Amino acid sequence: MSDSPLENIPHQSSLQPVELFLDDTIQFRCHKNIACFNECCKRIDISLTPYDILRLKNRLELTSNEFLAQYTVPYEMDASGMPGVKIRTADDNLACPFLSEKGCSVYDDRPTVCRYYALGLMSMRKEKSPTDEDAYFLIKEEHCLGHNESRTITVGDYRKEQDVAHYDEMNREWLQIILKKRSSGPTIGKPSARSFQFFFLGSYNLDSFRNFVKSEGFSNVYDLTAKELEQLKTDDVALLQFGFRLLKQVLFGEMSIAVKSDAMQKRTEQRREQINVDPDNPNQNYDGPGMI
Ligand code: SF4
Ligand code: SF4
Repeated sequence: MSDSPLENIPHQSSLQPVELFLDDTIQFRCHKNIACFNECCKRIDISLTPYDILRLKNRLELTSNEFLAQYTVPYEMDASGMPGVKIRTADDNLACPFLSEKGCSVYDDRPTVCRYYALGLMSMRKEKSPTDEDAYFLIKEEHCLGHNESRTITVGDYRKEQDVAHYDEMNREWLQIILKKRSSGPTIGKPSARSFQFFFLGSYNLDSFRNFVKSEGFSNVYDLTAKELEQLKTDDVALLQFGFRLLKQVLFGEMSIAVKSDAMQKRTEQRREQINVDPDNPNQNYDGPGMI
């Protein structure tokens, strides 16, 4: 079973060991007049999804490069070194940089894990299962008084209240990439540093990814219509979804983007040369079958 990068579980002891599903009920309410208001934002450990970054960088009117440099810190999501990003906090203070005296200064664009709290989401792919499953867990931290409020609500209705379904939908393909990568293990070869760089670009650095899509190198390889290219130049969400398809193509060979025939021929020759260099280790420098 693989867990999700969307976990926001600061201390394992805070996690209630009961799997919850959409119809299950929790007792919880968070509101502005509660005594612990903002306490949870003063000690954060928040992983960001690609759609979180898209929303935040647009809200703050920054490029993705600027946003990543100012507000995030990289980390490895798993033992293979899959790159992730978290919100950066000061060295001596774990408060969220978006916390203001009045509360969250980016509330309408707050990240997925902030929306879910005090639920943790785990997307799982059970062994031999072809599909992913979502399960939820209650996080009970001492400072959070929301659990003492009398309101009960189903997990499904809580998701609606927090407008989280849209975020999940936007990140679904990306989560599939991570789960597939983890469940495929070593059978598809060890990903190279270049694959991880490409994963980072397609996942988190949307504006630089757009420059790549606009480049001559890209159009020499991929066969997109002028209309498709134009949309990718102006529409962030379309670009993000295209990036996920391209990542699936590059990492797993799931071909959904047309490749120019002469580029395919050239790549086949390059692959042949690589295998000739080290016939005992054809997975060396593995970049995936779908072309970058
Ligand atoms: S983004 Fe907003 S809700 Fe999330 S931790 Fe920061 S201040 Fe709190
Ligand atoms: S009730 Fe919990 S989630 Fe709400 S402000 Fe207090 S600590 Fe944060």
